[in-house]
Amino acid sequence: MQLLKDKILKEGKVLSDTVLKVDSFLNHQIDPLLMKEIGDEFANRYSDQIITKILTIESSGIAPATMLGLTIGAPVVFARKRKSLTLSGNLYSANVHSFTKNETNEISVSKDFITADDNVLIIDDFLANGEAVKGLLDIAQQAGATVIGVGIVIEKGFQEGGMHLREQGIRIESLANIKSLTNGQVEFYD
Ligand code: 5GP
Repeated sequence: MQLLKDKILKEGKVLSDTVLKVDSFLNHQIDPLLMKEIGDEFANRYSDQIITKILTIESSGIAPATMLGLTIGAPVVFARKRKSLTLSGNLYSANVHSFTKNETNEISVSKDFITADDNVLIIDDFLANGEAVKGLLDIAQQAGATVIGVGIVIEKGFQEGGMHLREQGIRIESLANIKSLTNGQVEFYD
C-alpha cells in the first residue's frame, strides 16, 4: 500500500536493525485518515470472505481493526492484556511474549464475544516473530471459531513470524512488508 509506505519513509524512525518506531501515526498519535484507508484496504483484500468478527489486541491493533469494522460492518473484539474487576471468569486466555517489551503477558477475551459460529479476521499493527498473532489464533481456536486470515499493517519480513504462519497455511495480508532496517534505512519488499 503506497500511501502507508510513503508515510513510513517520511515519519518512521529506525531505532535499531529490528525495531521501527511509528509513533506519529500508529502507536501513539493516530492518523485517522490513514487508518480509514488501511481499513478499506483490508476490506478490499478480504472482500472474497465473509467476516463476522475482527479480533485484535490492545492497544495498537484497535485503530486499524475499528476502521475495517466500520467499512464492513463487523464488530471488533480486542484481547486485553490485563485482567480487571470487569474482566474475570468466562475467558479464553493465551500467553504472548512481547517482542518490544521482552515480557510475557496473558491476553484474554471474554467467551461472550467469540463463538464457534464466527468467521474471524485477525488484525494487528506489526508482525515480527508472530507471537501476538499466535496468541490470537490460540484464542480463536479455543472458541472453535474459523480464522479466515490475518491482516497486518506493517510486517517485518526479515523476522520469522510471517514465514512460520504461512507455512501453517494461514493467509496473511500485510500492507507494507519491510525487507531490512539496516543502516537506519527502511527497505521494503516489492
Ligand atoms: P510479534 O508478536 O509478531 O513478535 O510482534 C508483534 C507485536 O510486537 C506487535 O503487536 C507490536 O506491538 C510489537 N512490535 C513488534 N515489532 C515492532 C516494531 O518494530 N515496532 C513497533 N512499534 N512495534 C513492534
